[in-house]
Amino acid sequence: MDTESPPATTATFVYEALPGRVVFGPGTARSLVDEVARLEAARVLVVATEGEAPLARELAAPLGERWVASFTEAQQHVPLDVAEAARAAAAEHHADVVLSVGGGSTTGTAKAIALTTGLPILAVPTTYAGSEATPVWGLTEGQRKTTGVDRRVLPTTVVYDPELTVSLPPDLTAVSGLNALAHCVEVFWAAGTNPVSGALAERGIRALADGLPGAVADGADLDARADALLGAWLAGSAFAAAGGGLHHKICHVLGGAYGLPHAATHAIVLPHVLAFNAPAAPAASARIAAALGHDDAVAGLVALAQRVGAPTALRDVGLREDQLDEAADLAAANVPAENPRAATRDDLAALLRTAWQGPPVEVEEGR
Ligand code: NAD
Repeated sequence: MDTESPPATTATFVYEALPGRVVFGPGTARSLVDEVARLEAARVLVVATEGEAPLARELAAPLGERWVASFTEAQQHVPLDVAEAARAAAAEHHADVVLSVGGGSTTGTAKAIALTTGLPILAVPTTYAGSEATPVWGLTEGQRKTTGVDRRVLPTTVVYDPELTVSLPPDLTAVSGLNALAHCVEVFWAAGTNPVSGALAERGIRALADGLPGAVADGADLDARADALLGAWLAGSAFAAAGGGLHHKICHVLGGAYGLPHAATHAIVLPHVLAFNAPAAPAASARIAAALGHDDAVAGLVALAQRVGAPTALRDVGLREDQLDEAADLAAANVPAENPRAATRDDLAALLRTAWQGPPVEVEEGR
């Protein structure tokens, strides 16, 4: 199959390249001293969750006196009081760089510090969320999550060390990887879609499809872990420039209004949105299918999700049936104008009900 066909050159697009140094490879997180020196930093604040605190301390130890403090209370969705406590720690210790070690929640906490202080972030991701590649921040006050875009929160340096993902359990590996895949898939119909992000997304899908099954089957398989992490970076980079679409809007509604787990929600919803949009986006579908190594995008995604044992029903991750109507209302109010096909409230109600019930999206015979 021809996977290299150029995108239509008649399309008008804007591409904003983002700066940033990326260091990639097994063992790279063991030499953060060099990266801190390159940033000309002398006072490092380490940010982590309680779970990743031992790892963060281990990685910071070689920094010696330059490691001045740790904030290990990072939490999902970056509650405002946590953000303020993290900012206070940075101010109290006169930090001149924030070293974040962890998943999207930790990176998000480091971003909250950078948003108000302008401090550079040295990010060491341990999941496939991809937040370290984007200038997007999020903060939660009560039940309300606010997000925004600000170049100050884009990490200055990112160190991708596949060895740090070896401890990610199979279930989190699967859903986090599919979260990354969602970034790639939506690039093709996002408002900011462009040929550069499309190329990154295709390569990202390929890397994730190559790496995830092996990383789930054997968490210590470093080749598989490296493929998956490369895919996560490419996914985050593609998403950073192009933005998200209907799928991200639906997941944002489900996470924000009902507190559903971020990555698992993405893993469950993605096949349904792809199945909905695919008939109206044949060129995107063909590219996604080819990158998945399959004849059909939806069938390829469902096969990958099944192979890695991803969850298939929103009811299994905390959504109640009596919340479906409201969720459809909220999703209907957030349909992006550029979605490849119109999505009515009834369409979204049907999509959400199917995703709530599971089982996986039905794939037509012979596709
Ligand atoms: P997370 O950071 O909450 O991590 C999930 C769980 O995995 C946590 O319990 C964590 O302690 C654990 N964990 C992390 N790394 C581990 C490892 N290597 N080994 C074992 N356990 C590990 O979740 P996430 O899915 O990485 O990130 C989700 C958050 O990131 C959400 O709040 C989401 O909104 C945000 N996000 C933001 C962007 C952006 O561009 N701003 C992009 C993607 C995600």
